[in-house]
Amino acid sequence: MSKNATALPNPVDCTIGVIGGGISGLAAAHRILELQPEAKVLLLEASDRLGGILHSERHEGFLIEAGADNFITTPPYAVDFCKRIGFDTELIETNDSYRRAFVVSKGTLQPIPAGFAVMAPSRIWPIISTSILSWRGKLRMAAELFVRRREADGTESLAAFVRRRLGREVYERLVQPLVAGIYTGDPEQLSIGATVPRFLKMEKEHGSLIRAMMKEQKQQRKAVQKSSGARYSQFVAPREGMSAFVQAIVDRLGEATLSLKSPVEQVAQSTEGRWIISVGGPQPQTHHVDGLILATPARRNPALLKKVASTLAEEFTKIPYGSCALVSFGFLREQIGNPLDGFGLVVPSIENRKILSCSFSSIKYANRAPEGHVLLRAFVGGACQGELVDLDDQQLQKLVLRELSDLLLIRGEPRMKHVTRQVRAMPQYYVGHEQLVKRIEAQADQLPNFALASNVLHGIGIPNCIQTGEQAAEKVLADLTKPSRRKSNALEVTSSL
Ligand SMILES: Cc1cc2nc3c(=O)[nH]c(=O)nc-3n(C[C@H](O)[C@H](O)[C@H](O)COP(=O)(O)OP(=O)(O)OC[C@H]3O[C@@H](n4cnc5c(N)ncnc54)[C@H](O)[C@@H]3O)c2cc1C
Repeated sequence: MSKNATALPNPVDCTIGVIGGGISGLAAAHRILELQPEAKVLLLEASDRLGGILHSERHEGFLIEAGADNFITTPPYAVDFCKRIGFDTELIETNDSYRRAFVVSKGTLQPIPAGFAVMAPSRIWPIISTSILSWRGKLRMAAELFVRRREADGTESLAAFVRRRLGREVYERLVQPLVAGIYTGDPEQLSIGATVPRFLKMEKEHGSLIRAMMKEQKQQRKAVQKSSGARYSQFVAPREGMSAFVQAIVDRLGEATLSLKSPVEQVAQSTEGRWIISVGGPQPQTHHVDGLILATPARRNPALLKKVASTLAEEFTKIPYGSCALVSFGFLREQIGNPLDGFGLVVPSIENRKILSCSFSSIKYANRAPEGHVLLRAFVGGACQGELVDLDDQQLQKLVLRELSDLLLIRGEPRMKHVTRQVRAMPQYYVGHEQLVKRIEAQADQLPNFALASNVLHGIGIPNCIQTGEQAAEKVLADLTKPSRRKSNALEVTSSL
């Protein structure tokens, strides 16, 4: 279905419930009303604000993000969505003059070789000249061109894939820290096919990641030469932070009923095929709706679905979650000896440090810190050091300050300190995840006028969440405009589950 504001041909007078007011649920609610302005949307959110993981606040003049701080522009689902809600003018690009990042290598900061994207290089010279890898490591990496392709069977971990194709050193020194920085996950357990399917596809189609990356870069160069008009940088961020993005979506949901402090306890089906939503909390309520979109974190779904689809409910218990803490510091620029000429740094496990990564937030994007100041944001914890998230704020600040002072030559105490924790917030796509998602989707498909939207299905990034939300809205609207399906399926499923 094309992404435009044209309403469906048969307006239906129906109510669709959306449970969960994170970006997945908000995108679903928006898409319903965009396609079907006649429909009624009831969005139920457990907490006292919308946005879920997306939340920002100004703290002593610094813009602090509690979770995501930017999003990728390709695939373009998020940028397209911003254009449709009139928010694209509020997106700012990364600061071009510092477009690089560093990796800690034997205690010092080294630039990640230009053209190295998550796990493979697209340029030769930066890899040859880097001091991060030994000659042996570089030769092993070059041998990737001759490594035989392996048939993907869904059982290979990200770490095993990288070691097989590019060698141990590239894995330990470059890929592991980059992956840990993005997914806060353990690459020994993450599924290559579910986490970064792009690289598995490269192996399948080109027989080599290096060959595929180089081809891709050549095509990109040609496209840039041919294209006219403005292009976005690889990442963009809302000028005033993620909460401004959330507010822009809320402003567009004028006709929707947004109900905060409404924790849904469970859902059921009536014999007429409608959905019954039971809300708990201080003001318990029951709602009857025609269609239902579940946009809650997977770990919440077993309790919600157990009465109506026990097998599906059980599948959600198999998805593990990781936690992390985010420690933000504001410094006067002159307190930091390092030139900070990049977007941030990542830390390999073999360096035996506590921090996973650190963004130079106010270097990467404008409007993050008061004049003459710098905002740094460090990640701690993740799948491999989850216990660190339990440290109290002072302990976390102390250990992060110690490590950053050493790496970035910082003098003195920060002018601003802030800690947030994201507890069990990051779903981990472990080996077997693709098969699990297939089972989940097949079972969810059996439920009438029902769809899932979430970061556990096809990617954790904001663009992927928006896409699942929009697809869920399109599916439920399509189901509801087929009157014959509406009741018969409901009865079939009620009796078969
Ligand atoms: C620390 C961190 C940094 C990240 N950085 C980036 C980044 O830079 N770029 C990027 O693209 N992605 C990033 N991500 C990933 C991305 O932010 C998330 O995947 C995405 O925001 C998840 O959105 P969601 O709507 O699926 O889930 P959530 O944001 O978790 O929203 C789910 C909502 O459901 C509500 N809910 C739960 N149970 C119930 C119930 N019973 N009844 C009603 N409501 C309920 C919750 O309160 C919540 O509001 C990051 C994630 C984390 C944790």
